[in-house]
Amino acid sequence: MKMLDARACLEEEIVGICLENGIKKYRANQVFGWVQQKAAHDWEEMKNVGKDDREKLSSVLFIQPLEMVKEESSQDGTLKFLFRLADGESIETVLMNYENYTTRDRHTICVSTQVGCPVGCSFCATGMEGFKRNLTTGEITGQVLEIVHLIRQRDPDFGVTNIVFMGMGEPFLNYDAVMKAITLLNNEKGQNIGMRRMTISTSGVVPKIIKLAEDNPQVGLAVSLHSARDKVRDSLVPMNRKFPLEKLMEACKLYSSKTGRRVTFEVALQNNNTHQEEAQAIVKLLKGMLAHVNLIPVNPVSESIHRPARDKIIMFKKILEAAKISVSVREEKGIDIDAACGQLRQRLECERYESVNQS
Ligand code: SF4
Repeated sequence: MKMLDARACLEEEIVGICLENGIKKYRANQVFGWVQQKAAHDWEEMKNVGKDDREKLSSVLFIQPLEMVKEESSQDGTLKFLFRLADGESIETVLMNYENYTTRDRHTICVSTQVGCPVGCSFCATGMEGFKRNLTTGEITGQVLEIVHLIRQRDPDFGVTNIVFMGMGEPFLNYDAVMKAITLLNNEKGQNIGMRRMTISTSGVVPKIIKLAEDNPQVGLAVSLHSARDKVRDSLVPMNRKFPLEKLMEACKLYSSKTGRRVTFEVALQNNNTHQEEAQAIVKLLKGMLAHVNLIPVNPVSESIHRPARDKIIMFKKILEAAKISVSVREEKGIDIDAACGQLRQRLECERYESVNQS
């Protein structure tokens, strides 16, 4: 019989497994709490679950902790973790600003959803590496559980308040696994993270934006815009060739009308795009929409990509403000450790934690 991943099982699925194995239903509640709330690594930890029941359950359910290979700490308090998966692949996960906050403050984790990424954005280190595979639900929740397990050894009151699906991969190309992970992370007997405190970031997978609005209107949406002109965006975010701006905006408007929530649009500012024409194109695209624009001045990553001059960033922001578009400029976090999934992308995406979750 195929073993199931306990970290990917809903409580009702564990109830079914218990009943099939002659185990009382209330055990499912205990086991779910051990797995999803206490982030148990082993059946032996479940002291209030009888030995017989633990043995029966461990023959049908497995707990596979992610192996933490590396932890890096940034001067700004960001912690980056490299996890090795059971098949030897590795992923990165980031805990934002942990060391600068008290236990009662916001603790946001940026989670990966794929090993590599098939989208291939031109500025993204993850995309350049190509696509290996989707993560399972257990590997997605596992990133959060591993960090909880680890940090609680230092700080027993630690809890996660926000999740952003902005690490390696395009979350909407692994939709079902991500949605199930959201359900698990939201469970009040697990990490109890509010739906409105979880945000999915997409390169613009239009059908799944529409599906998210139908399936789970409380989950936040962020879009990697980067340019408001198809020609430019085609070259930066190849998903635009499949779902151009017109289709993307239709989907975002539908999301906003169904959910009542604004969409966050991320725009990486670099020397090549920080000019009036681009700002005016964004104004034209977003005028009248429930939207927030997060401008992210990049740090230099190559000879051709530079951080724009400060007066250019201010000029860009003022054009948006004059058109009454909500806008913020974010300083990058975790730069000294390349926080998030890979070089530039990480530097860009980590910024989103804060901006998206403030909306
Ligand atoms: S930016 Fe996101 S969608 Fe684009 S290649 Fe990188 S991981 Fe994939």
